[in-house]
Amino acid sequence: MAKYIDRFNIGIFGRMNAGKSSLMNLITQHNTSIVDPTPGTTADTKTALYELHGVGPARIFDTAGIDESSTLGEKKRDKVYSVLKESDLVLLVIDPSRKDFLPEKEIVEEARNRDKQMFVVYNIFKEKDMSEISKVEEEVPLLKFHKKIILSADKQEYRLPLTEFIKNNFEYEKTEQKLLPFVEKDEFYIMIIPMDDETPQERFLRPQAMTEEYITRHWAYPIAYRLDLNAARSENSLNERTRFEKLINGLGKRPKCIITDSQAMDIMSKWCPEDIALTTFSIIMIQFMSNGRLKKFADGIKNLSKLKKGDSILIVEACNHDRVSEDIGTVQIPAILNRKFPGVEIEHNFGREFQENKSLGKYSLIIHCGGCMISKQKLISRIRDIESLNIPYTNYGVFLSAVQGENALRKVLQVWEISI
Ligand code: SF4
Repeated sequence: MAKYIDRFNIGIFGRMNAGKSSLMNLITQHNTSIVDPTPGTTADTKTALYELHGVGPARIFDTAGIDESSTLGEKKRDKVYSVLKESDLVLLVIDPSRKDFLPEKEIVEEARNRDKQMFVVYNIFKEKDMSEISKVEEEVPLLKFHKKIILSADKQEYRLPLTEFIKNNFEYEKTEQKLLPFVEKDEFYIMIIPMDDETPQERFLRPQAMTEEYITRHWAYPIAYRLDLNAARSENSLNERTRFEKLINGLGKRPKCIITDSQAMDIMSKWCPEDIALTTFSIIMIQFMSNGRLKKFADGIKNLSKLKKGDSILIVEACNHDRVSEDIGTVQIPAILNRKFPGVEIEHNFGREFQENKSLGKYSLIIHCGGCMISKQKLISRIRDIESLNIPYTNYGVFLSAVQGENALRKVLQVWEISI
């Protein structure tokens, strides 16, 4: 559960019945996708996690036919293009026996506009179709810029040539983004975990579990401190503070950094000693999941002070968890926004799917969670969409620090060597 595996995304695209699902099954050697000659068999995108020998861990998407014309087809098309945005490699499956190649042309253009690496897979159903390939290349001249392989996706004998083709031609640059680049051997790191009604039984949340694992793996010492947030916020906070200070001062060595749940920033911004670094789980995750784009989320917070009555703000969480009374995204952040900027409109986007560009344009600010439950590609594709519309964006941890004042914001970014 804890470990995030960096996988590259392979998206399989094409028109209905070109053989996309057969290709998916050929790669994965399973009946991951239903293969049926009925048009539109792939009702939605199918995903398979697969270790591609010689290349690495992959996430493979089998998408619906781009040429479906029903209303549902429109939705499927949107989904297909959202998968294309997240793909590191596009496999365009073409049945050369078709009469026109407009859907293929559309996919080629879209992939090229987005600078995607694309390979063309000619899927031969009948021997005589081989001679039609030159006709396809005449009709879609851009295909000549992309490597191609000719095979029959329903024949097992083509599996090895296909995987070898991918292995030999796919150029994938893995970004080595460390989760906690500042962690040093033999040092103490305190994790502040409030544990409220939303906290699941018997496990840490993913950002907490990943942090604990990373610190331990790097020969340092993670210490989990359950903070009683209600007590810490009450008038009788002395006992809770004394308990916290006993931990900090009782280790025989100063902890290097306190990593707090962002919702406890109102407390930690005051309690964290000057000589100990401070950051939040949400900030750690957004830096990791966005492959080092924390600075952009930090810059986005400068737009907070420009908010005015009537502005719309989108709060985005990349998962669907049970939301109870003091939920951070639906209660705590909206309460702060309403108090500081009366009259702003607040909307939410929960889960793995993100709104299409057309509805995004109206927001004056987007506040995103750490994004730990989606892939890096999905998060980065969201960032690209948001940036294409020039919408300022920030992150839960950055926001909840900034509202505690400039010093708190400066402190949580310092360990990342970011100043704003
Ligand atoms: S996806 Fe977002 S809200 Fe859900 S656990 Fe991860 S950081 Fe938290």
